[in-house]
Amino acid sequence: MNRELYGKLVFELSRQGRRGYRLPDNHIPDNFTPADDTVPEIPDNLLRRDALTLPECDELTVVRHYNNMSTNNFGVDTGFYPLGSCTMKYNPKINEEMATHRAFTRTHPAAPQQDVQGNLKLYHTLQTYLSEIGGMAEFTLNPFAGAHGELTGLMVIRAYHDSRNDRQRRKVIVPDSAHGTNPASAAVAGLEVVEVKSRPDGTVDVDDLRPLLDETVAAVMMTNPNTLGLFERNIPEIARLAHEAGALMYYDGANLNPMLGIARPGDMGFDVMHINLHKTFSTPHGGGGPGSGPVGVRAGLEQFLPLPRVEKIEAPDGGEAYRLVTESTEALGAVSATLGNFAVQARALAYILSLGSEGLMQVGPLATLNANYIKESLKDDYLLPIEGVCKHEFVFDGLRDKSTGVTTLNIAKRLLDHGYHAPTIYFPLLFHESLMIEPTETESKETLDSFIEVMHDIAREARETPDVVLTAPHNTPIAHPDDTAAALNPVTTFTL
Ligand SMILES: *Cc1c(COP(=O)(O)O)cnc(C)c1O
Repeated sequence: MNRELYGKLVFELSRQGRRGYRLPDNHIPDNFTPADDTVPEIPDNLLRRDALTLPECDELTVVRHYNNMSTNNFGVDTGFYPLGSCTMKYNPKINEEMATHRAFTRTHPAAPQQDVQGNLKLYHTLQTYLSEIGGMAEFTLNPFAGAHGELTGLMVIRAYHDSRNDRQRRKVIVPDSAHGTNPASAAVAGLEVVEVKSRPDGTVDVDDLRPLLDETVAAVMMTNPNTLGLFERNIPEIARLAHEAGALMYYDGANLNPMLGIARPGDMGFDVMHINLHKTFSTPHGGGGPGSGPVGVRAGLEQFLPLPRVEKIEAPDGGEAYRLVTESTEALGAVSATLGNFAVQARALAYILSLGSEGLMQVGPLATLNANYIKESLKDDYLLPIEGVCKHEFVFDGLRDKSTGVTTLNIAKRLLDHGYHAPTIYFPLLFHESLMIEPTETESKETLDSFIEVMHDIAREARETPDVVLTAPHNTPIAHPDDTAAALNPVTTFTL
């Protein structure tokens, strides 16, 4: 493509009077007034006085501009995307077909219940499957994201303690390795965050946790495998201690995929959990959406789940039907305007049904195998701060040899030159040069091998010709945007 020409903003391509359309001649006289005086008049202050400044381009220029722009994006459909903490980047096309089925896309969110029985059945079926997968009594699919699920789950926990007049329980214990949304959601739910330390092996330090547990603790919030990709082996012990102290266990299920069908949070002693459908159960989620963060609870907490809920009932003819529950005394009320993000739910159900229980049980072992394969293949060049078997993802602390000055940021930028999306960088915060790699279960050995080769090449370049890495990327449409200025002073409109 000609980046000089078509990489410009469409406003820059504009030439006065150029156009790619022709409207029919206007037959309405300028002084026309409608005979029907029920047509409301546009208030004077809302009338446009000057013509809009719009780009003026011929059709071919516009088509080339947008097509070229679309190829500047990096996507799972164009290359390997080892971004850690994001799980499941592959989105089987059958799911898209299901989610965009006319029967679904044409339903209105406020349609009468009897007209949308199929949609309600989809919701209820998915809710039932997730309860089985999570080992929970009931799920709500209403929250729109993982963080939204965390907030909802913590509100359920608050409501539970309040219902027992245990109102002094306002603390949430969160490990120092937690995803940033965990402390943020706790704070938004009006709870106080208390940090528990990790041991040198990367898992939660039970000795550090024990003295923190008292009658002011509402919940212990944990991720398993944690954000270092490590399986927290002490969950049963931690759950016992938390429950003895009267606190509930919250499970951040954004990393559920390595234990899908193999271990269930409910069986480990968790009381409340969320799942990220847009991570473990497909749906593209680059750029922050769309998402879905269903929340599950163990028996005895169902009554606190938000409204509306979908209930299965017997139809007048004896068959099955579905009904919306919109009132209940102990429920949280609404956390979203509707029953959540329906298209994401449809994709998740299509994914579960197309894999079946046997397919779902292969997800974890394959994701784990792929992550460990990359980790072991690269640890001679990259610093592995925590040895041992990881689950679906792992973290390097930059290059082993730090003397070249090449940082994690440089490595990430150099990967772009080779057509790979960068891994997650500078998260988790436990290490200075974190490089968090997650291949997922869906990548072929050839893809993993070629990624490993490129990572080795970059390490060699760092030793032999560090400038090439330090000044990367060299062949992307944009090389070094000023991230800080863009965040502090975003320019969101174009002015000529
Ligand atoms: C992604 C993620 C979240 C937050 O989910 P969002 O849908 O981005 O709000 C929470 N915890 C972990 C471990 C995650 O990976």
